[in-house]
Amino acid sequence: MRKFRNWHWWLIFLSILLIVIAFFSVKLYTDRHAADMAASKTHAKSVSEHEAAVASSRRHAARKASKRHVAAVSSRRRAAAEASRKEAQSKAAQVGQNHIAEANQYAYPVAQVKQEMDAPYTSPIKENVVFLTFDDGPNTVNSPKVLDILSQAGVHGTFFVVGKQISPETAPVLKAEYDAGHAIGLHSMTHDYSLLYPSRVGATAVIENEAKSAQAAVQQVLGSDFRSHIWRYPGGHFSWKGLAAADVALSRLGLDWIDWDAAVGDALSPAQEPKTEDAMLQYHLRSLNVYPASNVRVVLMHDALGKDLTVKTLPRIIQYYRDNGYKFGVLE
Ligand SMILES: [Zn+2]
Repeated sequence: MRKFRNWHWWLIFLSILLIVIAFFSVKLYTDRHAADMAASKTHAKSVSEHEAAVASSRRHAARKASKRHVAAVSSRRRAAAEASRKEAQSKAAQVGQNHIAEANQYAYPVAQVKQEMDAPYTSPIKENVVFLTFDDGPNTVNSPKVLDILSQAGVHGTFFVVGKQISPETAPVLKAEYDAGHAIGLHSMTHDYSLLYPSRVGATAVIENEAKSAQAAVQQVLGSDFRSHIWRYPGGHFSWKGLAAADVALSRLGLDWIDWDAAVGDALSPAQEPKTEDAMLQYHLRSLNVYPASNVRVVLMHDALGKDLTVKTLPRIIQYYRDNGYKFGVLE
C-alpha cells in the first residue's frame, strides 16, 4: 500500500511537471511568435519607409542632379565660349591681328559671324551687329571719302583690299584705315577672275599664291605685326565651282573666307545698278529679304574708283542700321 502510494505520487508529480513544461513551452512559443510578428511588422514598416526615403532622396538627388547638370552644361558652355574667344584672341595675338588693339572691343571672329549667317541665332553673337565691308580698295579718291564718312558717324568697317592696289600713293590710305580702327581683309592680289577661276573653277595654287602675296603686300605697309585672317573671294564664294581645295589652302594660311548677306547693288552691270541714292537704299532693303534674318548683317559695298553713288549713299545706310539698333562691328 505504501509502495503503491509512493508510485502514485510520483506519477502525479510527473504529470504536473509535464503539464507545466507543456504550458511554458506553448507560452514561450506564442510569445516569441508575437514578438517575431511585431518585429517583422516593424521591419516591414521600416523597409517601406526606407524605400520611400530612398526613392524620395533619389528623386531629390535626380532633381538636384538635373539642376546641377543644367547649371554645369550652361557653365561649361559659357566656359567653352570664353575659352574659344580667349584662344582666338591669343592665337591672333601670337600671329598678329588685322586691326589695332583698340578695335578688340568691336571685332568679331569671322567663324562666329559665318555661323550666325549659316545657322541664324545659334552663334555666340546675341545682339544685332552690322559689318560694313568695302571691297576693291585702297585708292586715293573714294577710300579717303569712305574713311571720312565712317569717322564722322563714329563707326567702323572692314576693308577687303586688293594687293595690286597697294602702291606708294595708296599706302598712306591703307595705313589710315588701319590706324582709325578699321579692319583689313584680303581680296586677292589681282582680282582677275580668269586667273583665279579659269572656266569658273577655282585654281587652288593661284588662289593660295595670291593670298600669300596680298598678305605680304599689306604687311609691307602695316608691319610684320599685322596679319589678316579674313579673305573675301573676288565675285563671292558662291559664284564659283570647285573651291573646296582652295578653302583648305586658305585655312592652312590662317585665313577664313566670308561672303555677305546684304548689298547695295554697286557691283551690278551698268544697266542694272541703282542710279540714285533712293534706288540704292531700295536695293539694300530688298537685299535683306534675299538672305535669312539673323543677328548679323554683312553689307557688301565697294570703295573702288567710280563707286561714287555708294559713297554718297553710305551715310543713309549707316543711319538705317543705327535706327534699327545695330552695333557696328569689324571682322577679324
Ligand atoms: Zn571685288
